[in-house]
Amino acid sequence: MQLPTPSPERLAASDEALKSLPGYSKHAPGDNEFAVLDPSTEERIATLPSMTPQEALAEVAIADKAGRTWAKTTPRLRSDTLHNVYSVLIANQQRLAYVISREMGKPLAEAQGEVQYAADYVRWYAEELLRPAGEYRENPAGGSTILTRRAPVGLALLIAPWNFPMAMITRKIAPAIATGCASVIKPAALTPLTTLLTVELMAEAGVPRELMRVVTTANPAAFSEAVLSDPRVRKISFTGSTSVGSTLMGLAAKNIVKSSMELGGNAPLIVFDDADLERAVDGAILAKLRNGGQSCVAANRFYVQDGIADAFVEAFSKRMSEVVVGNAIAEGVGLGPVINRNAVNNFQHLVSDAIAHGANLRTGGQAPEGNGYFFAPTVLDNVPAEARIANTEIFGPIAAISRFSTQEEVVSRANDTPFGLAGYVFTENLDRALNVADELETGLVGINNGVPSNPAAPFGGMKQSGLGREGSHEGLEEYQEIRYYNIARR
Ligand code: NAD
Repeated sequence: MQLPTPSPERLAASDEALKSLPGYSKHAPGDNEFAVLDPSTEERIATLPSMTPQEALAEVAIADKAGRTWAKTTPRLRSDTLHNVYSVLIANQQRLAYVISREMGKPLAEAQGEVQYAADYVRWYAEELLRPAGEYRENPAGGSTILTRRAPVGLALLIAPWNFPMAMITRKIAPAIATGCASVIKPAALTPLTTLLTVELMAEAGVPRELMRVVTTANPAAFSEAVLSDPRVRKISFTGSTSVGSTLMGLAAKNIVKSSMELGGNAPLIVFDDADLERAVDGAILAKLRNGGQSCVAANRFYVQDGIADAFVEAFSKRMSEVVVGNAIAEGVGLGPVINRNAVNNFQHLVSDAIAHGANLRTGGQAPEGNGYFFAPTVLDNVPAEARIANTEIFGPIAAISRFSTQEEVVSRANDTPFGLAGYVFTENLDRALNVADELETGLVGINNGVPSNPAAPFGGMKQSGLGREGSHEGLEEYQEIRYYNIARR
């Protein structure tokens, strides 16, 4: 099967965007270097230095010094700077989107959406930081007055995954800048280019370069051991897998470093008999296929009530089968490649294991031949609980559907996982929606809504999905210490 390829105009424009990166090169990587590949073609698109732990510590020193000055700036100055950053990011939306699509593989239209979403966090914090919270309290026993204040936590280590290479960075760096903190930033080695361009544009918009130090490395373990041993680092914000998050919490424990962890998910998506079928299918497509299913909040386990199951599976499978798969920057593509060959191999194993356990393949299940890491949108129905796919974070364009009879049964099955990030409920009955949402052990619930993330919302997980929140005023507090002065009165 021939997959769509990009027009010469788009290819040239995306090459231009890559070449605009500071110090851009794509020579064959040497000893202390690593290559970045385009998952649509498997071609090398950049070569970067793999910085040593010593080089990372030099960046810690620069950021720490700059942070001490930035901590004393006014909220107004920080707000104006972030508003400027928002404008510059949006003015460069197309350039950023090309870099995202080329290194990460999401379709260009989705990459443009990510730039807007990422910039929205910057704008949110530009506005939110102008309302600094502090309180005045009376000592109930009399004799003193208590003032609480919020202070910047100090130098923050920000570690991001590859799946939203821009949004996962701005969600961290914007509140750090807003509260008066400096950052050392480690992007994923698969997608460092978006971070480099984002930080370059932020510097052009007026954020001091010394405040945001990017460390590119192919050896993250040595990096985090060195940086988290340095007492100048007072905060870690990590987004990635639960196993790496757990290792980093261990390292952070040594110096009692304040930790925010946005970790893995295994989201249930529940469709009740009384759901609006069209709304449920639309929401399920978004919850499954946004970012090619490579999202921590992606719907992972589909539970559909007996009375609506046949109609839902029919309509949902039809929509999944119509999605156009191809090169991320080709016109009209709805699903780009997944991140690498390992992911494709993993999907093939998950699908054959599910079929061997008795699941019915409704559509997809194939990896098209040729270059690029593609996998067809796939629907498996009647997936038994013993199949591996029912017990793992899929992180790809495969929907694993099973059926249920009662509300009590589905809530118990939905909660039967160590993860607790997102859940989805589709029903036209408000009482049921709220009751089920209350019962789900997840940090966020989409009610008749396949895309629940928003800068105004406190995004984060329960159980092994993490600690802390990003976005909203709660996200700001992750970069602050609460202090108080107890003033004696006569
Ligand atoms: P990952 O844990 O393999 O990598 C995440 C980041 O950690 C990368 O930058 C990687 O280089 C770095 N890393 C790996 N080992 C490290 C170490 N020892 N020390 C320091 N850094 C280290 O995860 P991934 O494959 O990039 O991303 C997928 C995972 O991220 C999924 O589990 C997904 O659910 C999760 N995720 C969670 C959220 C959320 O907000 N909860 C958002 C996006 C992704």
